[in-house]
Amino acid sequence: MPRTHKSFPRLYVTHGLAPGGTVALDKDQTNYLINVLRLKAGDSVILFNGRDGAWLAKVADPHRKGATLELVVPTAHQSPPSDLWYGFAPLKSARLDYVVQKATEMGVGVIQPVLTRFTQVHRLKSDKLDANVIEAAEQCEVLTIPVMAPEVALTDLIATWREVHGLRRLIVADESAPSGSPVEQLEWLRGLPVGILVGPEGGFSDDERKLLLEQDFVVPISLGPRILRADTAAVAALALVQAIIGDWR
Ligand code: SAH
Repeated sequence: MPRTHKSFPRLYVTHGLAPGGTVALDKDQTNYLINVLRLKAGDSVILFNGRDGAWLAKVADPHRKGATLELVVPTAHQSPPSDLWYGFAPLKSARLDYVVQKATEMGVGVIQPVLTRFTQVHRLKSDKLDANVIEAAEQCEVLTIPVMAPEVALTDLIATWREVHGLRRLIVADESAPSGSPVEQLEWLRGLPVGILVGPEGGFSDDERKLLLEQDFVVPISLGPRILRADTAAVAALALVQAIIGDWR
């Protein structure tokens, strides 16, 4: 994607973005633009809302308690949401934030926490996860915001997969899969809807691996001869899929 206006700050807003519109910022957004970035009247900002593409806006009123921006011109058309589904066993706080941000940067459309036998974390703070997704989206200039889905148990995910996902194949990063060429393991999936599932630090239990491997929609892949940390595996698996059958092509 050509990099346009890379020097302007990018801000996600929930407002509609249309010609001649103005956007009244909330307290946090005002604080970021006016107090942190010290923007002045007339300074430029790129706004996006996940629906109306990206817009160049200018600071109309830099009021410290509530700034107002006026929309100038669209700078990018809205891109379609990504069809890539990403499931992972939630990790402890900083690494959880990391995985949610990396999944967003790597272009997933749905981020789905999956509770497995050895998952370390069972209660997720959705507002914190949402904030990580927005922050990553602003930074990496995506225009669509991935859906942060509520957590689901692995057994329920598998039991409802066909009815929810239809033909979508589930690529499972299986640390016990025989080492093989990921290119061969993935190439035949090109053009099909896919999801990726990465397990917890403790790995999948034997029962879980058995359940997964007996599903005809599951495609187990190896991520090489070494055991990766779950957050390393997240980025490795996403990079493989995006490079071989995804939108990096
Ligand atoms: N504690 C487990 C490893 C878990 S690694 C053990 O020692 O066996 C955490 C997750 O990352 C795994 O569930 C798997 O989804 C993924 N992963 C790590 N290394 C991998 C590899 N070499 N191949 C495939 N998946 C891997």
